[in-house]
Amino acid sequence: MNSIGYDLNGHDMKFDQWRSQARLLLQQGVAPAHAQWSQAASLFSEVDSISKPLSNPVVTSDFIELAQLVSCVRDPDRWSLLYRLIYRMNHENRNLLKVSVDEDVRKADVWAKSVSRDIHKMHAFVRFKKTEVNGRETYVAWHKPEHQCLELAASFFVRRFGDKPWSIFTPNLSAHWNLKELSFSKGIPQNKFEHSDSFDEVWTTYYKSIFNPARLKIKMMKTEMPVKYWSSMPESAVIQELIRETPKILQNMAETPRFLAKVPETSDWRVLRDSAKSCKACPLAGHATQTVFGEGDLNAELMIVGEQPADEDDKSGRTFVGPVGKVLSEALENAGIGRDSIYITNAVKHFKWEPQGKERLNKKANGREMQACKPWLEAEIARVKPKVILALGATAGTALYGRLVNIQKERGKIHTESPFAPAILISWHPAAVLRSASIEEKSQRLAELSEDIKLALNKVPGPKNFSNHT
Ligand code: SF4
Repeated sequence: MNSIGYDLNGHDMKFDQWRSQARLLLQQGVAPAHAQWSQAASLFSEVDSISKPLSNPVVTSDFIELAQLVSCVRDPDRWSLLYRLIYRMNHENRNLLKVSVDEDVRKADVWAKSVSRDIHKMHAFVRFKKTEVNGRETYVAWHKPEHQCLELAASFFVRRFGDKPWSIFTPNLSAHWNLKELSFSKGIPQNKFEHSDSFDEVWTTYYKSIFNPARLKIKMMKTEMPVKYWSSMPESAVIQELIRETPKILQNMAETPRFLAKVPETSDWRVLRDSAKSCKACPLAGHATQTVFGEGDLNAELMIVGEQPADEDDKSGRTFVGPVGKVLSEALENAGIGRDSIYITNAVKHFKWEPQGKERLNKKANGREMQACKPWLEAEIARVKPKVILALGATAGTALYGRLVNIQKERGKIHTESPFAPAILISWHPAAVLRSASIEEKSQRLAELSEDIKLALNKVPGPKNFSNHT
């Protein structure tokens, strides 16, 4: 029997090590049943099963992608499953991974999905604390993933927090970023991770500030933020308290008069626009460069409502410029309508952002900010009197539908019972088109946005007279 394995001083074999050994076995024609992958077995003890040797085994990119995920699973059978798959791809069917009913393929898919989910949870639930190492400010976090996926997950943190030195510790492995390179070392148990400082307080305060009791769904919260991660998440300490306090908070919210923009009673659009420039009804005015009011044809039959100004809009004072504006222009062009023929605005008039190095990252406006800004949107709608309103994105949808909306489920449907216009509908925000996970998804979302604009135009009664200058 040919037996292969490692004794890596207690550490599991790494994917690259498995890969080079698997290549060696394939080249020698060793069948899966005769290759044992264990931690302490001897390497190449004896060979009694040789099939056709392969001088140059084929290893496809989709197999590598799948195998990297599967290699993170804490199951000793993962290495033999991967070898079986690659052996069969080379000897039976090169397209084996497409055979979803195959037992090996199915098992690998289930494992890969589980690891992908675990990586996603790590990205969402790692909480850094600020500390000092050798006099230098450093950020540290401890997290317990279900699988051994820190190496695959770490590049996300380099992209997201690359301007600060950090370490992420897990029970098996730790990752360290020193502003130049990523390195890994042994893991540590949670009880040895004893750094504690005011960073917990920051997370707790932040969580309290974004907690929306009106949207509290405990079961869903536990699914999204599994209880097993709570021990390393400082905000978990306040979750129970907030849940207990929810009825009181809701009562207070109902009784407290909302902050509302003070809108002059006029239908003069210039007066409205100029008055909005000095609005300070919510804190967003203090962080943005200027108000970005709507613009376009003041007698337009179609009004498009986005979420809030983007970075470029904030700097220029004009709505839907920059990359997001380009996507909207492309969709309008696909639908055969010029930008001059419609009125375009946002549900919130000031840019909300958070710093990320030198960048200003767009941050979603919360319910109170949307509510505060709604009178401006209502005044624009009352002035333009559109026949159809197309909401782009969930924030605009929520402002116009008065409830949470699901774009995937609700796009393409016309609502005729809105107080704002005879017909309203919702579609992808151009920023969601840009954020698509793949080229295919991007072109699909752009096509759907274009279709929804066409659908909105078809709902405009009477003869159409749209220019086509975007
Ligand atoms: S976001 Fe709206 S309500 Fe808030 S300050 Fe700006 S204009 Fe006023």
